[in-house]
Amino acid sequence: MNDFIYTSNPARVIFGAGRSRQVADELRALGCQRALVLATPAQREDAERLNDALGGLGVGVFAGAAMHTPIEVTEEALRRFEQLGADSVVALGGGSTIGLGKAIAYRNDAHQVVVPTTYAGSEVTPILGQTENGIKTTVSSPSILPEVVIYDPELTLGLPVAMSVTSALNAMAHAVEGLYARNRNPITSLMAVEGIRALRESLPGVIRQPGDVVARSSALYGSWLCGTVLGTVGMALHHKLCHTLGGSFNLPHAETHAVMLPHTAAYNQGAASDVLRPVAELFGGNLGSGLYDFASALGAPLALKDLGLKEEDLDRAADLAVLNPYWNPRPVEREAIRELLQRAWSGIRPQ
Ligand code: NAD
Repeated sequence: MNDFIYTSNPARVIFGAGRSRQVADELRALGCQRALVLATPAQREDAERLNDALGGLGVGVFAGAAMHTPIEVTEEALRRFEQLGADSVVALGGGSTIGLGKAIAYRNDAHQVVVPTTYAGSEVTPILGQTENGIKTTVSSPSILPEVVIYDPELTLGLPVAMSVTSALNAMAHAVEGLYARNRNPITSLMAVEGIRALRESLPGVIRQPGDVVARSSALYGSWLCGTVLGTVGMALHHKLCHTLGGSFNLPHAETHAVMLPHTAAYNQGAASDVLRPVAELFGGNLGSGLYDFASALGAPLALKDLGLKEEDLDRAADLAVLNPYWNPRPVEREAIRELLQRAWSGIRPQ
């Protein structure tokens, strides 16, 4: 056993079908009396229902959450928070809505109860990415970490199949990078392998029958573990490339992770073969090609060109990706990254 340091983030996690009915109890336990419920426009009705179910504890809904947490949206939500005399937020949704709750808490230290409905994992990290004038910056602070997370698989039954697949691959990417993180520890490595196993086993069932609560539970359990890894150890080349492609070329978040994961895993598998072996075995021995085949069988997007990236942007993407690189097990070299991006753009199966 190598030396390690393990610092866990404080978390209260409640898991189970129907458990979102416990939001009011959790708010009371935190000493909150007036919660503002957050959502995207697409999930407004669910948020209204949750607000009604909170009785006097719910003071209203702000359904304006948007991808990449634009500062203007946060400011509007904060005005609403203050007008309504709220003291807490309940975020119902995926990473966009959870990001808005975090952005509010970062500014006024409001308590957050989060009910995640995708597999992105933001609910268990103290990290907030926000955008101002088109520039995305990231901050980390204990006030950003939600106090309570309620995982209710029933609320994921309606997550469209395509988004379930890309979101799950997004979650797996956190765990793959967690396995070779410089500051990894035995606990995050256990969580990473188990999280990937749970997602790998449950996703075919989610696709066959999106309303299967057993498959959905297992997928949500896996996403919790992968998200916890993201919130605990450092990320590397894969996340750097996805942040570059999302931030500078406006590519969609989960889909970009889904396309890139087989290629970044292939890039790093030689340099991190020992720590990646348990998950490589889950995918037939070769992690890069195994993940590609898995994603392909699930109908995930396989090529950056299908997400709207232009071939002439690949040079600039490679230049940006090697600027201030995150630590990575294999050196991040411009030419090798340019080749990786070309293969990901074309959708070529990694070897
Ligand atoms: P999202 O939150 O943007 O959701 C995409 C769409 O799906 C939205 O319209 C949403 O309302 C809808 N949706 C969500 N759950 C649904 C459900 N169960 N049924 C029907 N529709 C549903 O997507 P995401 O991938 O979860 O989040 C992406 C954002 O989260 C990005 O901005 C990313 O940067 C951020 N993120 C942050 C962290 C972090 O730790 N800070 C981690 C992961 C992702």
